[in-house]
Amino acid sequence: MSRQALNSTGEAPSACDVVIVGAGFSGLYLLHRMRGLGLTARVFEAGAGVGGTWYWNRYPGARVDIESQEYSYSFSEELQDEWRWTERYAAQPELLDYLNHVADRFDLRRDIAFETRVVSAVFDEATAQWQVSTDRGEVVSARFCVMATGCLSAPNEPTFPGLESFRGPTYHTGRWPHEPVDFSGKRVGIIGTGSSAIQSMTEIAGQAGHLYVFQRTPNYSVPAHNGPIDPAVVADWKVNGATYRQAARLSAAGIAAIKPTEQLALDASEEERRAVYEDRWAQGGFAVGAAFADISIDPAANATAAAFVADKIRGIVKDPQVAELLIPRDYPFGTKRLCVDTGYYEIFNRPNVTLVDVASAPIEAITPTGLRTAAGEFEVDALIFAIGFDAMTGALGRIDIRGRGGLALKEKWADGPRTYLGLMSAGFPNLFMVTGPGSPSVLSNMIVSIEQHVDWITDCIEHLNGRQLAVMEATAEAEDAWVAHVNEVADTTLYPQASSWYLGANIPGKPRVFMPYVGGVGPYREKCDEVASRGYEGFALSSVAGD
Ligand SMILES: Cc1cc2nc3c(=O)[nH]c(=O)nc-3n(C[C@H](O)[C@H](O)[C@H](O)COP(=O)(O)OP(=O)(O)OC[C@H]3O[C@@H](n4cnc5c(N)ncnc54)[C@H](O)[C@@H]3O)c2cc1C
Repeated sequence: MSRQALNSTGEAPSACDVVIVGAGFSGLYLLHRMRGLGLTARVFEAGAGVGGTWYWNRYPGARVDIESQEYSYSFSEELQDEWRWTERYAAQPELLDYLNHVADRFDLRRDIAFETRVVSAVFDEATAQWQVSTDRGEVVSARFCVMATGCLSAPNEPTFPGLESFRGPTYHTGRWPHEPVDFSGKRVGIIGTGSSAIQSMTEIAGQAGHLYVFQRTPNYSVPAHNGPIDPAVVADWKVNGATYRQAARLSAAGIAAIKPTEQLALDASEEERRAVYEDRWAQGGFAVGAAFADISIDPAANATAAAFVADKIRGIVKDPQVAELLIPRDYPFGTKRLCVDTGYYEIFNRPNVTLVDVASAPIEAITPTGLRTAAGEFEVDALIFAIGFDAMTGALGRIDIRGRGGLALKEKWADGPRTYLGLMSAGFPNLFMVTGPGSPSVLSNMIVSIEQHVDWITDCIEHLNGRQLAVMEATAEAEDAWVAHVNEVADTTLYPQASSWYLGANIPGKPRVFMPYVGGVGPYREKCDEVASRGYEGFALSSVAGD
């Protein structure tokens, strides 16, 4: 029996071939590709515009930490030719302009419903259709449903006691207001020291009357060396761009600018090591993290990188006590997302910036006038929560997704996400995820990973349509084997040693499972291509609805 839901108007659902949830980098490219297959697609987006991450994260200092020309679509030569980045690392307004340009250039808006949140997606086994419901009361029936909902799009909400009593304005970096916020002369408190915190406080320190940085866990940060884009780089990309793009696709992290190395830190002399680290530090960005091949797998090698960065911090921050507080000690270097900054450690030399250690004296409550820690009261006029996201599974968990037999994805994933290739989950036919758990995702240049997933999904749907196959589903065996492989690879590295958001450690009660695939973008792509070339091995394909 079909369990067809009705629209709030009582009408039967409208139908299309594909429903896409989210209009960030993933959703926009998917829509373009689905149209290319001649399919009808509808996109639902909770925000009032396109852009996803770059629509929501408007905090001061928000910028990409991969060089602009690499953090952009590669699918259209014309798009690449006509778009000019102004900075080495583009800031949020420019990234949002870019995505708006893409939406206009490929005429994408007419199929996107904005300010519309998908609340449920239910698979009807009788018809093999997904019934997708929105918070506006609309129900759409579609053969395929693709979750392009983002890995870092569900903000971690603050739950400090007394929060509602605070009299001043509060901000979440992941939901920043659209109009500029003026902190001139204000006492500002910022909670968190991850990437968004580091980027925003570096800007805000120059404006605020006083900035209190409430730090529980220090983060490693490396300099971006940002600036206007070098015309020589632009010219080089005109000639060699295709080669760089291909190198990125085959690389470990999806970044062509990071040169791979076989050299081991422990094989190098102290002097050689320092020279390599200095060279990578001077390059800027993630280069330091990949300076030697054993940094992420060998604790002794990792310690050499950690010591190098610790020395840099001591060299920049004048107050030795503050410097020591800023040096991470509880986890290996690079096992929490490395931050890329523009003068972060330098702000602690300013007289208007105070670092407050809330590891030794935890936050007890937010008060009407500020914040109380075990060490005392801090009066502030505004509070910023830079406390990150319910990463990788958060946006999916906020949708009531039900597969075969009414099984809820949330229930299936109660002990941690389970997918095959990070693309599909057994029991949820014709439901795809873009950069889902079990794929390189947040450990990579996301645009490379997004394009790879969207291309793979497009090829897959074309394959099904060409053979009159109605349904595709990951098998439980393939999924079990993939989950085991993902864990096995993670366990060969130091990553699981950090209490990071990669493991869900920032969200109380979230199961601790290392979610992204550490095996590298290039090897992962190879596996996905192999699976496809073997007729989608590990997936059950069937021509009959309900099979
Ligand atoms: C501050 C910040 C900086 C980052 N910097 C980098 C970087 O330097 N390099 C890098 O590779 N990656 C970076 N990332 C990761 C970034 O998320 C990806 O690079 C990329 O933008 C993801 O695109 P997406 O379309 O997959 O997801 P998103 O851009 O997150 O878009 C998902 C969209 O889905 C919508 N959505 C979710 N659930 C629903 C629902 N139920 N109904 C309707 N709509 C829904 C959301 O509103 C959102 O607009 C950063 C992330 C953040 C938060």
